[in-house]
Amino acid sequence: MRLRTACPAPPRAWTVELRSHPGGLVLACQHCPHGTTPITAASARSAALAHLARHARGDLRPPHLRICQCHERGCHWHPRHRGCAGPIRLLLACERGGRLWRLADACSACSAATAQAAVVPDTALARAPLQPSSARRRGRRCPKGPGERVRVREMLSYLAAALPEGTSVAARLLALQCALRMNTRMQVRLPRGVLCSLCLNTASDSWHELEQARWLRTAPGNACNEITAELLDVTLLGQAPARPDRRHAADWALRAGSSSAAGATGPLPRLASVYLAAHTDPEAGSGLGELDQMARACGTRPAELPSTLDQLTATGLLGSWKACPGSGDLHWALAHGTGIRAGDRQREAARGNPVG
Ligand SMILES: [Zn+2]
Ligand SMILES: [Zn+2]
Ligand SMILES: [Zn+2]
Repeated sequence: MRLRTACPAPPRAWTVELRSHPGGLVLACQHCPHGTTPITAASARSAALAHLARHARGDLRPPHLRICQCHERGCHWHPRHRGCAGPIRLLLACERGGRLWRLADACSACSAATAQAAVVPDTALARAPLQPSSARRRGRRCPKGPGERVRVREMLSYLAAALPEGTSVAARLLALQCALRMNTRMQVRLPRGVLCSLCLNTASDSWHELEQARWLRTAPGNACNEITAELLDVTLLGQAPARPDRRHAADWALRAGSSSAAGATGPLPRLASVYLAAHTDPEAGSGLGELDQMARACGTRPAELPSTLDQLTATGLLGSWKACPGSGDLHWALAHGTGIRAGDRQREAARGNPVG
Protein backbone atom coordinates (compact mmCIF):
# COMPACT_ATOMS: atom_id res chain seq x y z
CA MET A 1 0.00 0.00 0.00
CA ARG A 2 1.31 3.39 -0.92
CA LEU A 3 1.22 6.15 1.58
CA ARG A 4 -0.55 9.21 0.31
CA THR A 5 1.55 12.27 0.85
CA ALA A 6 -0.30 15.55 0.94
CA CYS A 7 0.50 17.69 -2.04
CA PRO A 8 1.80 20.99 -0.68
CA ALA A 9 -0.47 23.89 -1.52
CA PRO A 10 1.05 26.43 -3.90
CA PRO A 11 2.42 29.44 -2.05
CA ARG A 12 0.15 32.46 -1.76
CA ALA A 13 2.57 34.80 -3.48
CA TRP A 14 2.18 36.13 -6.99
CA THR A 15 4.35 38.41 -9.05
CA VAL A 16 3.72 40.21 -12.31
CA GLU A 17 6.08 42.31 -14.33
CA LEU A 18 5.44 45.16 -16.73
CA ARG A 19 7.90 44.85 -19.61
CA SER A 20 8.65 47.20 -22.44
CA HIS A 21 7.93 45.79 -25.83
CA PRO A 22 8.33 47.21 -29.33
CA GLY A 23 4.57 47.67 -29.51
CA GLY A 24 4.29 49.20 -26.01
CA LEU A 25 3.99 47.43 -22.69
CA VAL A 26 3.18 43.83 -21.82
CA LEU A 27 2.10 42.24 -18.58
CA ALA A 28 4.04 39.08 -17.76
CA CYS A 29 2.88 36.83 -14.93
CA GLN A 30 5.23 34.28 -13.40
CA HIS A 31 2.30 31.96 -12.67
CA CYS A 32 0.35 32.06 -15.89
CA PRO A 33 1.68 29.89 -18.71
CA HIS A 34 -0.05 31.82 -21.46
CA GLY A 35 2.65 34.32 -22.22
CA THR A 36 2.21 38.03 -22.00
CA THR A 37 -0.71 40.41 -22.37
CA PRO A 38 -0.30 43.72 -24.19
CA ILE A 39 -1.44 46.72 -22.14
CA THR A 40 -1.32 50.50 -22.36
CA ALA A 41 0.83 52.64 -20.08
CA ALA A 42 -2.29 54.29 -18.61
CA SER A 43 -3.81 50.98 -17.62
CA ALA A 44 -0.60 49.21 -16.61
CA ARG A 45 -0.95 49.57 -12.88
CA SER A 46 -4.61 48.67 -12.75
CA ALA A 47 -4.05 45.69 -15.08
CA ALA A 48 -1.23 44.42 -12.86
CA LEU A 49 -3.30 44.78 -9.69
CA ALA A 50 -6.37 43.20 -11.28
CA HIS A 51 -4.32 40.23 -12.41
CA LEU A 52 -2.80 39.73 -8.96
CA ALA A 53 -6.17 40.06 -7.28
CA ARG A 54 -7.58 37.32 -9.51
CA HIS A 55 -4.85 34.96 -8.35
CA ALA A 56 -5.49 35.81 -4.69
CA ARG A 57 -9.23 35.38 -5.03
CA GLY A 58 -8.75 32.07 -6.80
CA ASP A 59 -6.76 30.71 -3.87
CA LEU A 60 -8.75 31.48 -0.74
CA ARG A 61 -7.50 29.77 2.39
CA PRO A 62 -8.46 29.93 6.04
CA PRO A 63 -6.11 32.07 8.15
CA HIS A 64 -4.45 29.13 9.91
CA LEU A 65 -3.23 27.77 6.58
CA ARG A 66 -1.63 31.04 5.53
CA ILE A 67 2.04 31.52 6.23
CA CYS A 68 4.51 34.35 5.83
CA GLN A 69 5.75 34.00 2.25
CA CYS A 70 8.42 36.57 2.93
CA HIS A 71 9.93 34.35 5.62
CA GLU A 72 9.67 31.34 3.30
CA ARG A 73 11.97 33.17 0.91
CA GLY A 74 14.53 34.22 3.49
CA CYS A 75 13.08 37.67 4.14
CA HIS A 76 14.96 39.34 1.30
CA TRP A 77 12.00 41.57 0.40
CA HIS A 78 12.95 43.99 3.17
CA PRO A 79 15.91 45.10 5.34
CA ARG A 80 16.70 43.00 8.39
CA HIS A 81 14.30 42.99 11.30
CA ARG A 82 13.79 40.91 14.40
CA GLY A 83 11.82 38.10 12.81
CA CYS A 84 8.27 37.25 11.86
CA ALA A 85 5.46 38.35 14.15
CA GLY A 86 1.82 39.23 14.05
CA PRO A 87 -1.10 38.05 11.95
CA ILE A 88 -0.67 37.14 8.29
CA ARG A 89 -2.08 39.72 5.90
CA LEU A 90 -2.04 40.17 2.17
CA LEU A 91 0.76 42.55 1.22
CA LEU A 92 0.90 44.46 -2.06
CA ALA A 93 4.42 45.51 -2.92
CA CYS A 94 5.96 47.32 -5.81
CA GLU A 95 9.59 47.16 -6.93
CA ARG A 96 11.76 48.57 -9.69
CA GLY A 97 9.87 51.83 -9.91
CA GLY A 98 6.52 50.22 -10.59
CA ARG A 99 7.75 47.58 -13.05
CA LEU A 100 7.24 44.67 -10.68
CA TRP A 101 4.17 44.07 -8.53
CA ARG A 102 3.80 41.39 -5.92
CA LEU A 103 0.86 40.24 -3.86
CA ALA A 104 1.77 37.83 -1.07
CA ASP A 105 0.84 36.64 2.37
CA ALA A 106 3.19 38.22 4.88
CA CYS A 107 3.30 38.61 8.63
CA SER A 108 2.79 42.01 10.21
CA ALA A 109 6.48 42.45 11.03
CA CYS A 110 7.64 41.68 7.48
CA SER A 111 4.83 43.86 6.05
CA ALA A 112 5.90 46.79 8.18
CA ALA A 113 9.53 46.38 7.15
CA THR A 114 8.84 46.24 3.40
CA ALA A 115 9.30 49.49 1.48
CA GLN A 116 6.84 50.55 -1.22
CA ALA A 117 4.23 48.15 0.10
CA ALA A 118 0.79 48.24 1.62
CA VAL A 119 -1.33 45.76 3.47
CA VAL A 120 -4.49 45.09 1.48
CA PRO A 121 -7.45 45.81 3.75
CA ASP A 122 -8.38 42.16 3.52
CA THR A 123 -10.72 41.40 6.37
CA ALA A 124 -12.65 38.99 4.24
CA LEU A 125 -10.98 37.64 1.13
CA ALA A 126 -11.88 34.23 2.47
CA ARG A 127 -15.58 34.98 2.84
CA ALA A 128 -18.35 34.81 0.30
CA PRO A 129 -18.54 38.13 -1.51
CA LEU A 130 -22.31 38.48 -1.27
CA GLN A 131 -24.29 38.67 1.94
CA PRO A 132 -27.64 36.86 1.88
CA SER A 133 -30.39 39.38 1.21
CA SER A 134 -32.22 38.09 4.26
CA ALA A 135 -29.45 39.39 6.49
CA ARG A 136 -30.78 39.87 9.96
CA ARG A 137 -31.65 43.39 10.86
CA ARG A 138 -32.67 42.95 14.44
CA GLY A 139 -31.67 45.96 16.46
CA ARG A 140 -28.36 47.70 15.96
CA ARG A 141 -25.54 45.61 14.67
CA CYS A 142 -22.23 45.36 16.42
CA PRO A 143 -19.32 46.90 14.52
CA LYS A 144 -17.01 44.23 13.11
CA GLY A 145 -13.30 44.34 12.54
CA PRO A 146 -11.07 47.30 13.17
CA GLY A 147 -12.34 50.75 14.12
CA GLU A 148 -12.69 53.72 11.78
CA ARG A 149 -9.21 55.03 12.44
CA VAL A 150 -7.55 51.72 11.53
CA ARG A 151 -9.73 51.26 8.46
CA VAL A 152 -8.85 54.70 7.17
CA ARG A 153 -5.17 54.16 7.95
CA GLU A 154 -5.09 50.87 6.05
CA MET A 155 -6.96 52.31 3.11
CA LEU A 156 -4.61 55.30 2.89
CA SER A 157 -1.68 52.92 2.91
CA TYR A 158 -3.28 50.73 0.26
CA LEU A 159 -4.14 53.67 -2.00
CA ALA A 160 -0.61 55.02 -1.65
CA ALA A 161 0.53 51.84 -3.38
CA ALA A 162 -2.39 51.28 -5.73
CA LEU A 163 -2.86 54.75 -7.24
CA PRO A 164 -0.37 56.02 -9.82
CA GLU A 165 2.36 58.16 -8.28
CA GLY A 166 1.29 61.36 -10.01
CA THR A 167 -2.30 61.14 -8.71
CA SER A 168 -3.32 64.54 -7.35
CA VAL A 169 -4.20 65.16 -3.73
CA ALA A 170 -7.83 65.91 -4.56
CA ALA A 171 -8.17 62.67 -6.53
CA ARG A 172 -6.71 60.77 -3.56
CA LEU A 173 -9.31 62.27 -1.22
CA LEU A 174 -11.99 61.22 -3.66
CA ALA A 175 -10.53 57.71 -4.06
CA LEU A 176 -10.49 57.25 -0.30
CA GLN A 177 -14.20 58.07 -0.07
CA CYS A 178 -15.07 55.85 -3.03
CA ALA A 179 -13.09 52.88 -1.71
CA LEU A 180 -14.70 53.10 1.72
CA ARG A 181 -18.23 53.62 0.39
CA MET A 182 -18.41 51.12 -2.46
CA ASN A 183 -20.87 48.24 -2.26
CA THR A 184 -20.23 44.55 -2.94
CA ARG A 185 -20.64 45.15 -6.68
CA MET A 186 -17.93 47.82 -6.48
CA GLN A 187 -20.38 50.60 -7.17
CA VAL A 188 -20.38 53.84 -5.28
CA ARG A 189 -22.81 56.73 -5.10
CA LEU A 190 -21.44 59.97 -3.75
CA PRO A 191 -24.14 62.47 -2.83
CA ARG A 192 -23.70 66.21 -3.10
CA GLY A 193 -23.03 66.55 0.63
CA VAL A 194 -19.94 64.37 0.40
CA LEU A 195 -18.74 66.10 -2.76
CA CYS A 196 -19.19 69.49 -1.06
CA SER A 197 -17.20 68.32 1.93
CA LEU A 198 -14.43 67.34 -0.45
CA CYS A 199 -14.76 70.70 -2.26
CA LEU A 200 -15.50 68.83 -5.49
CA ASN A 201 -18.21 69.43 -8.00
CA THR A 202 -19.70 66.67 -10.09
CA ALA A 203 -17.66 67.66 -13.13
CA SER A 204 -14.41 67.77 -11.25
CA ASP A 205 -11.05 66.91 -12.78
CA SER A 206 -10.50 64.40 -9.98
CA TRP A 207 -13.11 62.06 -11.42
CA HIS A 208 -11.46 62.36 -14.79
CA GLU A 209 -8.07 61.69 -13.26
CA LEU A 210 -9.22 58.46 -11.60
CA GLU A 211 -10.86 57.41 -14.86
CA GLN A 212 -7.62 58.04 -16.72
CA ALA A 213 -5.83 55.85 -14.19
CA ARG A 214 -8.45 53.14 -14.89
CA TRP A 215 -9.25 53.13 -11.21
CA LEU A 216 -12.94 53.85 -11.66
CA ARG A 217 -15.53 54.55 -14.32
CA THR A 218 -18.31 57.05 -13.78
CA ALA A 219 -21.79 56.12 -14.95
CA PRO A 220 -23.11 58.10 -17.92
CA GLY A 221 -25.80 60.70 -17.28
CA ASN A 222 -24.94 61.45 -13.69
CA ALA A 223 -27.28 63.81 -11.90
CA CYS A 224 -25.84 67.07 -10.61
CA ASN A 225 -26.57 66.17 -7.00
CA GLU A 226 -24.95 62.75 -7.01
CA ILE A 227 -22.30 60.79 -8.87
CA THR A 228 -22.43 57.07 -9.49
CA ALA A 229 -19.27 55.24 -10.37
CA GLU A 230 -17.94 51.74 -10.67
CA LEU A 231 -14.57 50.99 -9.12
CA LEU A 232 -12.22 48.95 -11.27
CA ASP A 233 -9.65 48.11 -8.60
CA VAL A 234 -10.72 44.53 -7.88
CA THR A 235 -8.12 44.12 -5.15
CA LEU A 236 -10.50 46.20 -3.05
CA LEU A 237 -13.13 43.49 -3.14
CA GLY A 238 -11.21 41.89 -0.32
CA GLN A 239 -12.73 44.39 2.07
CA ALA A 240 -16.29 44.11 0.76
CA PRO A 241 -18.28 42.89 3.76
CA ALA A 242 -19.21 45.01 6.76
CA ARG A 243 -20.09 47.93 4.54
CA PRO A 244 -21.77 49.93 7.33
CA ASP A 245 -18.45 49.89 9.17
CA ARG A 246 -16.61 51.09 6.11
CA ARG A 247 -19.16 53.85 5.60
CA HIS A 248 -18.60 54.95 9.19
CA ALA A 249 -14.91 55.03 8.40
CA ALA A 250 -15.65 57.16 5.30
CA ASP A 251 -17.64 59.60 7.46
CA TRP A 252 -14.83 59.62 10.01
CA ALA A 253 -12.36 60.53 7.24
CA LEU A 254 -14.66 63.33 6.05
CA ARG A 255 -14.80 64.78 9.54
CA ALA A 256 -11.06 64.41 10.01
CA GLY A 257 -10.48 66.25 6.74
CA SER A 258 -12.83 69.09 7.46
CA SER A 259 -12.03 69.67 11.13
CA SER A 260 -9.28 72.05 10.11
CA ALA A 261 -10.91 73.30 6.95
CA ALA A 262 -12.05 76.59 8.44
CA GLY A 263 -8.54 77.94 8.25
CA ALA A 264 -6.73 75.45 6.07
CA THR A 265 -8.21 75.32 2.62
CA GLY A 266 -7.05 73.15 -0.22
CA PRO A 267 -6.84 69.42 -0.62
CA LEU A 268 -3.37 68.91 0.86
CA PRO A 269 -4.17 70.20 4.39
CA ARG A 270 -7.35 68.13 4.25
CA LEU A 271 -5.68 64.90 3.27
CA ALA A 272 -2.82 65.61 5.69
CA SER A 273 -5.38 66.05 8.49
CA VAL A 274 -6.95 62.70 7.64
CA TYR A 275 -3.55 61.05 7.53
CA LEU A 276 -2.46 62.48 10.88
CA ALA A 277 -5.75 61.65 12.59
CA ALA A 278 -5.61 58.09 11.27
CA HIS A 279 -2.05 57.62 12.52
CA THR A 280 -2.53 59.23 15.92
CA ASP A 281 -2.63 57.11 19.05
CA PRO A 282 -6.04 58.16 20.42
CA GLU A 283 -4.98 57.57 24.02
CA ALA A 284 -1.86 59.71 23.86
CA GLY A 285 -3.17 62.19 21.29
CA SER A 286 0.18 62.01 19.52
CA GLY A 287 1.71 60.10 16.67
CA LEU A 288 4.96 58.95 15.16
CA GLY A 289 5.53 58.34 11.48
CA GLU A 290 7.81 58.98 8.56
CA LEU A 291 7.79 62.03 6.31
CA ASP A 292 8.34 59.82 3.26
CA GLN A 293 5.35 57.63 3.93
CA MET A 294 3.10 60.54 4.74
CA ALA A 295 4.16 62.28 1.53
CA ARG A 296 3.46 59.15 -0.51
CA ALA A 297 -0.02 58.72 0.97
CA CYS A 298 -0.76 62.41 0.43
CA GLY A 299 0.51 62.49 -3.15
CA THR A 300 3.14 65.11 -2.46
CA ARG A 301 6.88 65.44 -1.79
CA PRO A 302 8.35 65.29 1.74
CA ALA A 303 9.68 68.85 1.24
CA GLU A 304 6.09 70.12 0.88
CA LEU A 305 4.97 68.74 4.20
CA PRO A 306 6.56 71.16 6.71
CA SER A 307 4.56 74.13 5.41
CA THR A 308 1.37 72.04 5.50
CA LEU A 309 2.12 70.92 9.06
CA ASP A 310 2.72 74.56 10.04
CA GLN A 311 -0.61 75.44 8.46
CA LEU A 312 -2.36 72.72 10.47
CA THR A 313 -0.70 73.99 13.64
CA ALA A 314 -1.87 77.52 12.87
CA THR A 315 -5.45 76.35 12.35
CA GLY A 316 -5.45 74.50 15.67
CA LEU A 317 -5.49 70.87 14.53
CA LEU A 318 -1.91 70.16 15.58
CA GLY A 319 -0.51 71.19 18.93
CA SER A 320 3.06 70.63 17.79
CA TRP A 321 5.13 68.70 15.30
CA LYS A 322 8.78 67.88 14.81
CA ALA A 323 10.64 66.21 11.96
CA CYS A 324 14.10 64.72 12.21
CA PRO A 325 15.94 65.56 8.97
CA GLY A 326 18.40 62.67 9.37
CA SER A 327 16.01 59.79 9.94
CA GLY A 328 12.93 61.29 8.31
CA ASP A 329 10.95 60.53 11.47
CA LEU A 330 7.96 62.69 12.16
CA HIS A 331 6.41 63.26 15.60
CA TRP A 332 3.25 65.22 16.21
CA ALA A 333 0.72 65.93 18.90
CA LEU A 334 -2.86 66.92 18.20
CA ALA A 335 -4.12 70.07 19.85
CA HIS A 336 -6.13 69.40 23.00
CA GLY A 337 -9.84 69.04 22.49
CA THR A 338 -9.57 68.36 18.76
CA GLY A 339 -12.95 67.03 17.63
CA ILE A 340 -11.46 63.97 15.97
CA ARG A 341 -9.52 63.04 19.05
CA ALA A 342 -12.51 63.31 21.37
CA GLY A 343 -14.84 61.52 18.94
CA ASP A 344 -12.33 58.76 18.41
CA ARG A 345 -12.00 58.11 22.12
CA GLN A 346 -15.75 57.82 22.55
CA ARG A 347 -16.07 55.44 19.64
CA GLU A 348 -13.22 53.23 20.72
CA ALA A 349 -14.69 53.11 24.22
CA ALA A 350 -18.06 52.22 22.74
CA ARG A 351 -16.54 49.35 20.77
CA GLY A 352 -15.52 47.69 23.99
CA ASN A 353 -19.12 47.60 25.19
CA PRO A 354 -21.97 45.55 23.81
CA VAL A 355 -24.13 47.65 21.53
CA GLY A 356 -27.76 47.42 22.55
ZN1 LIG B 1 -1.10 35.20 -13.52
ZN1 LIG C 1 10.26 38.90 5.97
ZN1 LIG D 1 7.32 37.37 8.18
